[in-house]
Amino acid sequence: MQTNCPNCNAQTSTLHTTCDFCKTMLRPKRVLSKEQEEELEKFAEAIELRFKSIAGNWDAPVMGGCLGGLLIITATWLGLYYAEMTMNFKVILGSTISITLFALWGGLVTWSEKKACQAAYDSQIKGDIEHFLEMRSFYRYEFDMVANGKLEENAFLRAFLFLKH
Ligand SMILES: [Zn+2]
Repeated sequence: MQTNCPNCNAQTSTLHTTCDFCKTMLRPKRVLSKEQEEELEKFAEAIELRFKSIAGNWDAPVMGGCLGGLLIITATWLGLYYAEMTMNFKVILGSTISITLFALWGGLVTWSEKKACQAAYDSQIKGDIEHFLEMRSFYRYEFDMVANGKLEENAFLRAFLFLKH
């Protein structure tokens, strides 16, 4: 739908959370009924499930990478065991290498999941959300508000709420 921005009065799309021109939030004046709110909640949860399954596609490579990482850490400790250094230095070096590897791996997984979710949002999920909102005459702002109230704190969909267009 098109609407007029309450701030600058320009024509702008209700599929955007903010006015295309002045970035004012496009809050509709109406209040959602209980049924409408539930409909949006269900839809937001369905979208979040899609993100979860997309992020879950990383489980196999993640497991493989974990095993590889453990092997490297084991090899490091074995190598250090036979190296000619003082015991304290071996422990410090071994721990530092292990912790760094774990941190790097954790970062890589988070990064991969985020990237996969972003790609899915751009190529499909954004369009599906907009199609649903158009069909049911909801504002994107209403969807974002309901999803924000309903979703878990670490939900993937949160990265795509209240985007400024
Ligand atoms: Zn405006």
